[in-house]
Amino acid sequence: MSESTNESNTNTQSNGSSNTPEKSSKKSVRWVGAPKLGIMDALYLPAIAAGVGTTIRRIFEKNETREYPEVEPDIPPNYRGVHRLNRDSKGRVKCVACFLCQTACPANCITIHAAPAPKDDPNWADRDKFPASFEIDELRCIYCGMCEQACPVDAIELTSIYDLTGLTREEMIYDKEKLLEVFDQTSQTGKDPVRTKSGVLGPASEILVDQSKPAKS
Ligand code: SF4
Ligand code: SF4
Repeated sequence: MSESTNESNTNTQSNGSSNTPEKSSKKSVRWVGAPKLGIMDALYLPAIAAGVGTTIRRIFEKNETREYPEVEPDIPPNYRGVHRLNRDSKGRVKCVACFLCQTACPANCITIHAAPAPKDDPNWADRDKFPASFEIDELRCIYCGMCEQACPVDAIELTSIYDLTGLTREEMIYDKEKLLEVFDQTSQTGKDPVRTKSGVLGPASEILVDQSKPAKS
């Protein structure tokens, strides 16, 4: 539709008697048609010359290509990657099944089923509950870090793992065992030390501050 036709449509609407929200919102719509091409534009020669010029210019510029995966990217300390469920000093899952992370999650991708802690096991005497199952849909997650912030016992954390892949959607739903495995692997390599402390946000949740600049008073 051409611009002039649409402008006349808009004028017709603006002269109409109805002021319904639907009509008035249509007044702000301005359709733009395809530009008319001149003879040079129709031959595409200027565009081709510009493209070739850009290519030649780039040949002589410094190469910024990273040879991934041989050269891994520098991950900033506040990067939010794959989750993990931390273990406590007894090796148990640290999570106490309080549901705060599930409640805080804006993407609704955490599903927890709580169970009473085994009464006859002295190892669990200090716990009322534990997560019988704990799942995170890593495809649905938006990696906002709110689960990490909400957790009162530093049980759930985001790690620096960014190369997350899977062949099926089911593979991308991380269950409790898989989340604990991520903890075991990342804490063993020392890549992701436990970084949350009750009441203090972890680096993944902090806003980076440029230390070279003086703090504002
Ligand atoms: S990072 Fe955000 S979206 Fe992902 S599980 Fe945690 S709270 Fe939900
Ligand atoms: S907020 Fe922490 S303790 Fe509570 S359910 Fe989530 S991971 Fe478990």
